[in-house]
Amino acid sequence: MKKIYIIVLILLIGILTACGTHSVNDNSERKISGKTKSILYSSTVASSEYSGMNVESIRFQGSEYFYTVKMPKLNRESWDKEMERLGKTAIDDFIKEAEEIRDNQKEPLELQIDFQVYSFSEQFLSVKIEQSVSRGGEVQKKTFSTHNFDRNSGEFIKFPDLFKEGSNFHEKLTKLSCSKLVKHPAVKAELSSEQFKKNYESIKEPIKHFLIKNDRLILLFDAGELGIQSSDELEITFSKYELRDVLKKKTVLGTIEEPSNKPGENKYVALTFDDGPHETVTYEILDVLKKYDARATFFVLGVHAEDHPEVLKRVAAEGHEIGNHTWGHPYLTEISQEKIKQDVKKADEFILNITGQMPGLLRPPYGHVNETVIAAVNKPLIKWSLDTRDWESQNPDAIFEKVQTKVKDGDIIIMHDTLPTTAEALELVLPWLYEQGYQVVTVSELLGFSANPELAQAGKVYYSRTHSN
Ligand code: ZN
Repeated sequence: MKKIYIIVLILLIGILTACGTHSVNDNSERKISGKTKSILYSSTVASSEYSGMNVESIRFQGSEYFYTVKMPKLNRESWDKEMERLGKTAIDDFIKEAEEIRDNQKEPLELQIDFQVYSFSEQFLSVKIEQSVSRGGEVQKKTFSTHNFDRNSGEFIKFPDLFKEGSNFHEKLTKLSCSKLVKHPAVKAELSSEQFKKNYESIKEPIKHFLIKNDRLILLFDAGELGIQSSDELEITFSKYELRDVLKKKTVLGTIEEPSNKPGENKYVALTFDDGPHETVTYEILDVLKKYDARATFFVLGVHAEDHPEVLKRVAAEGHEIGNHTWGHPYLTEISQEKIKQDVKKADEFILNITGQMPGLLRPPYGHVNETVIAAVNKPLIKWSLDTRDWESQNPDAIFEKVQTKVKDGDIIIMHDTLPTTAEALELVLPWLYEQGYQVVTVSELLGFSANPELAQAGKVYYSRTHSN
């Protein structure tokens, strides 16, 4: 009898080791060990989404604990080895923990490891691996790690690989990250910016995890470490343009082009922001404009200026153009000439009083203009030639794409300084415009009114530098 036991045992060990060292390359999940109380499955299948990637799954079901581990494999030795090491370490640690606890809990302890692909191309893979330990559906611990791999060289990409030597990138990113994190909704909801900065500065190496998505660098922060309770991690994003000073010319984020400013070939656009001032977003937009040394035109709403005169003051102090967007945002085409005049005048006087500047331009709400409006308003009426529809998408990528696909020399671009997503989009739009060789100017500069005030015609409707009627 003893002999039979030993043979069975040897066979069982053999099967288990075999499955640990190479994968089962069929498309079905195979049961590789079965006792009454525990089962271990292992399978490796080609990913349906990412050609060239395999997904290895290991599943163990026991009476006291179970685990499900999914790992991306590439048939590249260094990557696959690292994934195996990670999976094995996580499972070993988990089993140890589960066996140490061994309390009489009804529900078994459960480990889950899964991954999220941020980028996958022939050259490159960027992956986040997420681990969670739970019991009875209640998560007890969550951790993650990030992995970036150059499929050509077969090597992992390390953070410093992205940056120019001697560029002080670490210091710069640490600072930039702090100012982005302060604006993160989870941070804003829980901490004052002073408290958050204190927490952030107390961490020795806050930047530990990075991922890459298209031409964006994503940094992930452990929320708990920063004193944030409501989420597990905080994610912030940088476009390659924001990091142009410190990034190497060619990285997995793409190539950094020099601005194509050839003399005599200057292209101009005017950025306009409507409906503000807003107590937070206008400041964010001013910060971005300042960072790139750009001037914009703010079409201010009287009622909002009355609520936030200090914001309006800063807009004026930083050299931006302030236009009138009426007092109360009425449909000007539906009210009398007298009412139009009153509404515009009220906003004019308030703005003049706060900033010392009389608005030289009017943007009619909704762009609605008719003969009555033209007769009533003693200023150029500024519409637009490029509508970002930022209020509709409220998505920085969508706003950026609108500009990228539509912009042309002489455009007046409309946005709103009331939407946080517009401020985020501006971080993408502005450096991109510069890279394309655009100069970003105010509406009066674009239309030549600054240099030749007599060009500004009251009641005339302007869409762009070349289109007016
Ligand atoms: Zn408006």
